[in-house]
Amino acid sequence: MPVLTLHYPSAYGRFRCVGAQCPMTCCAGWRIAIDKASAKKYRRGGGAFGRRLRSAVDWRERRFKSENGRCPMLSEDLLCDIYKQMGEENMCRTCRNYPRHREDYGALHEIVLLPSCPEVARRIVMAPEPLKIVSAQRNRSSVDVAGVDHQFLHNILSVRAHMFHILYARKLPLNRRLAAVLALGRDVQRCGGNDERAVRLAKHYEQWIFTSNFDHRLRSVGENASAGFDRNVLFSLETVVPQWPGMLTEYVRLWQSGKLGAMVAKDGGSMDDYRYENLMAYYLYMYLPGAVYDGDIYTKVRLALFSVLVVRQMYQAAQIRMAAKEQPEDRNEYETKEPEEYEMFLQCVCVYSRQIDHSDSNLEILEDALCHNPGFSLAELFYEISVAFGGF
Ligand code: SF4
Repeated sequence: MPVLTLHYPSAYGRFRCVGAQCPMTCCAGWRIAIDKASAKKYRRGGGAFGRRLRSAVDWRERRFKSENGRCPMLSEDLLCDIYKQMGEENMCRTCRNYPRHREDYGALHEIVLLPSCPEVARRIVMAPEPLKIVSAQRNRSSVDVAGVDHQFLHNILSVRAHMFHILYARKLPLNRRLAAVLALGRDVQRCGGNDERAVRLAKHYEQWIFTSNFDHRLRSVGENASAGFDRNVLFSLETVVPQWPGMLTEYVRLWQSGKLGAMVAKDGGSMDDYRYENLMAYYLYMYLPGAVYDGDIYTKVRLALFSVLVVRQMYQAAQIRMAAKEQPEDRNEYETKEPEEYEMFLQCVCVYSRQIDHSDSNLEILEDALCHNPGFSLAELFYEISVAFGGF
């Protein structure tokens, strides 16, 4: 009997929507697409509730309308009225599944909890323990393996596992681990990615990162950088969530003023490295296997790293804004307080993820830039890592 392998983050079973307690409900800020079957049901609804439901839908676009940025079916107590009146089984597919998402790679299905949900970000990114991926097998009457090179997929998963080991080698500073994962992605791509050499190389990196020889390589590559990557690509993205334009403008303004780099020089890096380790590991989990379809491992690694760098710097920008609002005369300029600091970081992760992971066109724009723009070369990305997390 054909066997299907399932991968999912260990937090999967513990995830519960926190409903009215959610700091960034998924029922506001964007317009939710409705699948055909649910739309059919909503059209037929009777009584006052049926009329209200019909008027909440933009039938031409088959999406819920937006009322002051919120789904019209979101009640005053921040719960979904469809859920309350009709039960979970009658919510549209997007709402029923969210934040769960499945990627199919033939005989392997990988299940993702999207970090655009604050509760997912809290459980996965903010957890001090390393990301753990669970593997399970299920018998199926048939498994569609068409279009997937299983040997290549196997190599990608092996390389990803070695990247996780490098990321969680906590004896080393985070900047060095991120640079090592990036360089490994580039070198694996150079050797073709789909043969044994890729896996041997990944094993070699795990030892090599502890040597002075690797230090030397980092410095010599970094010396060829000029100014880091070009942030203008972020302005070419479509706006998915309303918070994005403001956060982006502020981030780029502070970057241009040199304040973000100065902040790292001042605090010598982050006390919360585990957040970035987890974010990088999780983005590798989400993006890397997709290389089985386009052969581009390096761009997927760059996309994961780019995401970590942008979240990190948006968060620093938010810290600067918060410090400026409070009384800077009796507080350290960059000092922050719990729980605002925690919520702010969560917000950066979720807004970024809503912008990127929920828009195919934004993903395409970024992948294209990362692949073709010389501003995203190994040297420029090394430079960015050193600006965001301290020099090598
Ligand atoms: S974003 Fe997540 S926790 Fe918040 S309402 Fe949606 S599913 Fe629930």
